[in-house]
Amino acid sequence: MQLQDESETVMKLVFGGRLLLNGTLGRLWYRLCSWMYPRVWNKTIAQVMAQLFDNSSAEMIFRMTGNLGDLGGNYAQTPFTLLPLLIHHYNDEGGYYPKGGPNSVIAALIPAIEKTGGRCLASAEVKRIIFENDRAVGVVVEKNNNEYEIRCRSGVISSAGVRNTYLKMAPLKDLPSITPKWFLDGMGKILAEIPPSTQHFQVFLGLNKSQKELNLPKYNTWCYPFDLDTHPLTLHSYDEQLETFHRDPINGPPLAFIGFPSAKDPGLLCILLFIYYENRHPGRSVCVIAAETPLYHFQKYANLAPGARGEEYEALKKKLECDWLMWCLSAIDKIEIGTPLTSMHYFGSVMGESYGLDSSLNRFFNFDFSHCLRPKQPIPGLYLAGQDTALWGFTGGMVSGIQTAEAILGYHRWPVILAKRTLIRDLKKMDGVPTDDRDLLP
Ligand SMILES: Cc1cc2nc3c(=O)[nH]c(=O)nc-3n(C[C@H](O)[C@H](O)[C@H](O)COP(=O)(O)OP(=O)(O)OC[C@H]3O[C@@H](n4cnc5c(N)ncnc54)[C@H](O)[C@@H]3O)c2cc1C
Repeated sequence: MQLQDESETVMKLVFGGRLLLNGTLGRLWYRLCSWMYPRVWNKTIAQVMAQLFDNSSAEMIFRMTGNLGDLGGNYAQTPFTLLPLLIHHYNDEGGYYPKGGPNSVIAALIPAIEKTGGRCLASAEVKRIIFENDRAVGVVVEKNNNEYEIRCRSGVISSAGVRNTYLKMAPLKDLPSITPKWFLDGMGKILAEIPPSTQHFQVFLGLNKSQKELNLPKYNTWCYPFDLDTHPLTLHSYDEQLETFHRDPINGPPLAFIGFPSAKDPGLLCILLFIYYENRHPGRSVCVIAAETPLYHFQKYANLAPGARGEEYEALKKKLECDWLMWCLSAIDKIEIGTPLTSMHYFGSVMGESYGLDSSLNRFFNFDFSHCLRPKQPIPGLYLAGQDTALWGFTGGMVSGIQTAEAILGYHRWPVILAKRTLIRDLKKMDGVPTDDRDLLP
């Protein structure tokens, strides 16, 4: 419990320092924090666990941390401070599933954006950010093989991830000459030294039986192939198994996530009626299986177009598919397989990564790295949002949106902080915010 509190405090200090301090002061702040919280500051899960437990307690540790896959990565490299956040999330707040599926989040956001004068474009790739007179003034977008310039009134926010932003849309060498050296050095190191996060192999199953017939669980399951009779767990077992699976996902022991979105979906609220999944898709259910699988197994097919990657790629997917699906063959109606190449295509991630930048220690605890990941970039008019500036996951993305809005509106200044003002607190007090919306604010 004490470690959980310490970890939460440490993450607040990391982000507070990142948002408010510069250069030497920021480095001093991080140094001070490392003295105040030596047990968890800049420590991996394996390091903290080794301080607390011996090998004989490994099974208990594993029970505590068995959903590490939600973070991706292993015990030897993942910062410990992220783990209590995950445990707190599940134990104290529980899990959530959007009514009507993830699409309903976008469907709810678009009208709000358009009502305030915004426009949402789909299948429109930003090719580059336009800089003029040392500030970001717009973007060049490609749509239907044509390029269009979109000019902005006050700035450009890139929520496409640090890799997409600084490798593709605004390469470091093309940034305006006023870009400070500390930023070019820091961001250069982030791109070179922080690897992409975990990549996944995904199986999407369409099942031809209803939720009632299959009685599928609403909870998620992580499967680990440990045979405790023959293989006693040690503090390193998880990392070893993961490593073996990464090397050979076809023959290695599978470590996988299994979930049934159709069991979780309570339906979409339409006026006064609940339309349950069962009513929208009678007699059908769906299952998602995901397992960490590195891109390099598929890299040689990366230059081929989706759907035309050839027989060898299809055979590889088929082989993976067969090993995975033996357990529910009787109900399978449709199978779709996704590899890291699929993620590159659909999520626009540079290396097929699922969670943006890897959650390595330097990303949070090295001020020279952390400082570059603040929403307000040191080039006038350029802002970042999304998981790379905060934490992975839906919540990480949402929190980053609030932080970026605060950065644009000038909230990250001492007078505002000392007055205990935050964007959310101010919104709650604002005239014109409907009471229902006010209650929804965190
Ligand atoms: C298979 C899978 C399952 C997951 N499950 C969960 C879960 O259960 N719970 C959870 O909390 N998180 C989950 N995550 C993680 C979660 O999806 C991400 O952490 C979250 O979406 C990050 O939000 P974001 O807005 O920062 O980035 P993204 O959601 O990745 O959004 C970035 C957007 O930028 C777009 N983009 C990229 N380049 C360009 C360009 N040049 N021009 C225009 N647009 C561009 C991309 O197309 C993408 O839409 C999962 C991720 C994966 C891959």
